[in-house]
Amino acid sequence: MTVRVYIGLGSNLEDPVAQVLEAVEELQMIPDSILVARSGLYGGKPMGPADQPDYVNAVVSMDTLLSAEDFLAALTRIEDLQGRERGGEKWGPRIIDLDLLLYGKAKINTPDLTVPHPGIRERDFVIIPLAELAGDLNVPGQGRLTALINKCENHSLKKLVTA
Ligand code: ADP
Ligand code: MG
Repeated sequence: MTVRVYIGLGSNLEDPVAQVLEAVEELQMIPDSILVARSGLYGGKPMGPADQPDYVNAVVSMDTLLSAEDFLAALTRIEDLQGRERGGEKWGPRIIDLDLLLYGKAKINTPDLTVPHPGIRERDFVIIPLAELAGDLNVPGQGRLTALINKCENHSLKKLVTA
């Protein structure tokens, strides 16, 4: 049985639109998995340190036969492939960030993996593109997207590229 997963993409270095689109291409190469849809691409203000370039964010839905752990490993591999450097400041600038937002309806809490991603509820740059693909999805443990969007931080999102 496949599991529907949602991936949050973000970049604010080295041509962020191109980095996000390249990551979407790479996602399509993950074994035993198929891309379902991509949201529009959104520009927005950074979360955390303000002295960094604006971000480009999007969400992709996929169906996969992989375990959540194997899927996360595939995401990390793509980050490495695109030259992601690790160990910078928390929420600092990055070439590409791929977060596993949802893995079906699963709740996972291991040292390496928290699903649903705990940041969904405070991030308009995740909630808005996620709602494009998933409607008024219920995020296990966090609530429905329509309720979350009224409470999250505002990063002045602007759509840059349509779905
Ligand atoms: P952030 O996205 O919060 O800026 P990183 O991309 O550097 O941070 O990820 C740090 C760690 O977060 C990764 O090593 C990964 O093991 C862990 N992690 C936990 N849950 C998730 C998730 N749902 N998606 C992606 N990474 C996760
Ligand atoms: Mg990440």
